Amino acid sequence: MIKDNVAHVRAEIEKSCQKSGRPVEDVTLIAVSKTKPVPMLLECYDTGVRDFGENKVQELVDKYDQLPGDVRWHLIGHLQTNKVKYIIDKVYMIHSVDSLHLAEEISRQAVKHNVTVQILVEVNIAEEDSKFGISAAQAPELVEMISRLPGICVKGLMTVAPYVDDPEKNRQHFVNLHQLYVDIKEKNIDNMNMDKLSMGMTGDYCVAIEEGATYVRVGTGIFGERDYANGSHH
Ligand SMILES: *Cc1c(COP(=O)(O)O)cnc(C)c1O
Repeated sequence: MIKDNVAHVRAEIEKSCQKSGRPVEDVTLIAVSKTKPVPMLLECYDTGVRDFGENKVQELVDKYDQLPGDVRWHLIGHLQTNKVKYIIDKVYMIHSVDSLHLAEEISRQAVKHNVTVQILVEVNIAEEDSKFGISAAQAPELVEMISRLPGICVKGLMTVAPYVDDPEKNRQHFVNLHQLYVDIKEKNIDNMNMDKLSMGMTGDYCVAIEEGATYVRVGTGIFGERDYANGSHH
């Protein structure tokens, strides 16, 4: 079942790339495995997926030890500063950096562990009250400030678009985030090497790819619906 789902998602990614004239290697699929048990992740791993996304620090740390060492772990959920230390040497990329305060703690821990951490700046592109992320207007300055910190490399931008029934409703948000990404890239900030744009989830990743996504984060489309009945809401 997971095998079929991954094959389906990969075929859709390929179609969207063709439609928009992009090479398929431009887009990396991140399997969002939050709340899902390790055997399901291993099944997904066996189809060739190496990028996994988790929302919670504790869950990422638990699964880290149970999956092969070549998995690239992406932290995609809100990150509290006091938890940075637990993932600093485990995470491949942090997608959810939305304050200088958080970036400073990541930098401090990265220097301490002698690593460089790749991060994305999370932008609340649709300006929803309920969402994390900084506004588009504040993003360029934040990217510039974070780029000065040691132990951090700003690789791009990320957004969690609104939950919609029709993915076309998010197209303009993806266009806007892509434009912001291009604008910031053109500033040629020192120590910044932006080439990643993380946008699109199960409901809208095809549209996101058409508008320039390089990472798509797909959970439900690979692992099925999540069961939050045990009370652990994300
Ligand atoms: C849960 C989650 C996803 C995946 O959502 P699906 O709709 O299940 O594909 C992607 N990104 C973030 C930040 C998430 O929290």
